[in-house]
Amino acid sequence: MKTDQFKSRLEEEKAKLEAEMASVGRKNPSVPGDWEPIPSETGVEADLVDQADVVMSRESNTAILADLEARYDTILAALSRIEKGTYGKCSVCTKDIEVARLEADPAATTCVEHL
Ligand SMILES: [Zn+2]
Repeated sequence: MKTDQFKSRLEEEKAKLEAEMASVGRKNPSVPGDWEPIPSETGVEADLVDQADVVMSRESNTAILADLEARYDTILAALSRIEKGTYGKCSVCTKDIEVARLEADPAATTCVEHL
């Protein structure tokens, strides 16, 4: 299978996800490869209402970051399958994944039959 076009699309998406993750989180210095959410406000002398806002924004950043990280892991896994030469094989039946499906989602891990 020719993986060049999928590889470049995966790398593009990886870069985009890294930029998005950097806007809601920061790399966790104690856990390599992990990201932690940052509150969008770093409050000074916040009153109770403001503190609630900060908590809420941290929670929504956590949710956004979790989604981004999940997708990011999927992309990294697809890139590593390219490296290992197993890219484009269904993880259930090991048959080739339809090219149209990979074009729709280059990180797809299963064929149309095993969605
Ligand atoms: Zn399959």
